[in-house]
Amino acid sequence: MVYVDAHCHLGSRQYDNDRAEVIERMLEKGVSDAIIICCSRHDLLESVRLRQQHPGFKLAVSIHPQDLEDDYSESRLNELREIIEEYHPDMIGETGLDYYSHPHTRLQQKHFFISQLEMARQYDLPINVHSRKASADTLEILRKYPCRGIIHSYSGSVEMARLFIKEGYYLSFGASLLFADAKRPKEVISRIPLERLLIESDSPYQSPVKGHRHEPEDVVNIYEAVSRIRNISVEELAEIVESCFNRIFETSDKGIG
Ligand SMILES: [Zn+2]
Repeated sequence: MVYVDAHCHLGSRQYDNDRAEVIERMLEKGVSDAIIICCSRHDLLESVRLRQQHPGFKLAVSIHPQDLEDDYSESRLNELREIIEEYHPDMIGETGLDYYSHPHTRLQQKHFFISQLEMARQYDLPINVHSRKASADTLEILRKYPCRGIIHSYSGSVEMARLFIKEGYYLSFGASLLFADAKRPKEVISRIPLERLLIESDSPYQSPVKGHRHEPEDVVNIYEAVSRIRNISVEELAEIVESCFNRIFETSDKGIG
């Protein structure tokens, strides 16, 4: 049985001291497919090495919407283009809009989001979308610049979920649904087609336990929670998620339905 972690930052500095052990633990649990998000040079160089060693690891590169405080010059977009040419990532992400943590850089975020969608289209790559308190703008931009890919750490409504799915996107759910009061993600999971669902840790972030560093191996807990919500076995769920993951990286899938 294979588990997918559809969004993790394995190249993060937080793993610099024990990355090999973290990977050993995840592989032992069967988490052998993962999307590694790189939003810095450091993360990129670590992750390029990891992809060479692990055939199930995919590389995603981007400029993060929270990272436009000080430098939002065009040269950063040129640099990203060079990274794409040099390292041939499997995906662009995470990119998107974060009006929750960085409301004052909205304009820059929109420009960088659109520019990265244009790159995804140019290089025929799927995208990994970060959207926080920005669903309406995210959807509007995705409609204008059609791509394919994943809405990461989905926390919106059922109605919005259906609209993203209609545009061809997959929704990925993280550890937030492990909280007892996580009514909304549970409701969304119970009402969307499983063929559009992915599971992620967003490690080292979003640990359900305060002060604890999250790891990719922890996605297994999220699989168990989703399998209870949908009343199917973890094995059956893992098979469905695995086929979603594979479809995203097939270039022929332009997101139908
Ligand atoms: Zn992330």
